[in-house]
Amino acid sequence: MNPQHFHDYMNRCTQPVCAYLYDLAHLRRRAKMLRDYLPKQCKLFYAIKANSDAPILKALLDHTDGFEVASLGEIRHARAVSDSVPIIFGGPGKSDIELEGALDLRTMLIHIESEHQLRRLDWIARHRGQSADILLRVNPAHVPQQATLRMGGQATQFGIEEARIPALLELIRTLPGIRLKGLHIHAISNNLNAHTHLALVEHYFNLVKTWQNRYELRFDWLNVGGGIGVNYADPEESFDWKEFCAGLSLLIAAYQPDFQIIFECGRFISADCGYYLSEVIDVKAAYGKYFAILRGGSHHFRLPVSWQHNHPFMVMARDSWRYPFARPAVHNAPVTICGELCTPKDTLARDVYMERLRAGDCVVFLLAGAYGWHISHHDFLSHPYPERVFLNN
Ligand SMILES: *Cc1c(COP(=O)(O)O)cnc(C)c1O
Repeated sequence: MNPQHFHDYMNRCTQPVCAYLYDLAHLRRRAKMLRDYLPKQCKLFYAIKANSDAPILKALLDHTDGFEVASLGEIRHARAVSDSVPIIFGGPGKSDIELEGALDLRTMLIHIESEHQLRRLDWIARHRGQSADILLRVNPAHVPQQATLRMGGQATQFGIEEARIPALLELIRTLPGIRLKGLHIHAISNNLNAHTHLALVEHYFNLVKTWQNRYELRFDWLNVGGGIGVNYADPEESFDWKEFCAGLSLLIAAYQPDFQIIFECGRFISADCGYYLSEVIDVKAAYGKYFAILRGGSHHFRLPVSWQHNHPFMVMARDSWRYPFARPAVHNAPVTICGELCTPKDTLARDVYMERLRAGDCVVFLLAGAYGWHISHHDFLSHPYPERVFLNN
């Protein structure tokens, strides 16, 4: 985003600055670029839990193939912006009401995460005189990859362990309310490496081919999940999507899969369209360390606390100073950036070297468009919410 937008916004504020700015034009361009690189046999879905605001979803309608959701509430968010957008529905704890709602609201695929969930969906669908299109979510025995968060390749609450899949494939043959359309594997999150991600997809291709051959199954879809990473430590060094897509084309040419491949990315699509702006209210020293205190914090932007990282930010200097006394400031020293909450956990970046930071300056956190506002505990301490601004040009 052009920094002028930040200045324009800050200059309009009559109270200490505290806002999310989202760049919808950038979001549209990015999603289009990501989809354009993908091989033809692939679909790009957006995992809306990363950021489910209506303007974000509307911006992505024309530049993705659909939305991945993880609750009935998210199905409703998706349907609120479009009657027809394809929806795929995951989540380990779908209640009967959610399964009914998914059928009512014409969900394209339901990702089944356990035998009990499978039997409940079959039972519900049959009572409605329907059958439901599903993917079985696999927790693979082996995931050739380390990651920030792991949902598969180890004991977790997600999906069905690999060894149980053959039994469920047999069971599905006896369930008239279920139509098996393929498999779903979302095993890791925030992978930054295109090569290892390709190895992951190849591993999934091998698993699927084995089962298809053994059980003579025809699949329409393999959903290879999201989990493509955003580099918060070094925003300049990002996941090489172009290289990944080139490798994927070769992989598809070699394997000749007869199914289509779904990607359901959240972070990778929406992270870099969002900025969290927050004014420095105070700067002080304590026992040899410097602290800057923001109007805002982890109740608006929990991601850095949740991931225990220093979140990347830049400083927007503001020269005006309204008080007739000295302006607190720090020069050429490491500074810890804290929120306004009464807990030492409310720290967004630690010991970051700064040339200058003053009360009244603004801090702009980058890559705040995904898992920012939507994962935060907004009402803790009852501070006013940030303004949330969606820029369209
Ligand atoms: C959260 C989630 C995603 C999106 O993950 P990102 O890391 O944001 O790409 C995709 N699929 C499932 C099943 C998820 O739970």
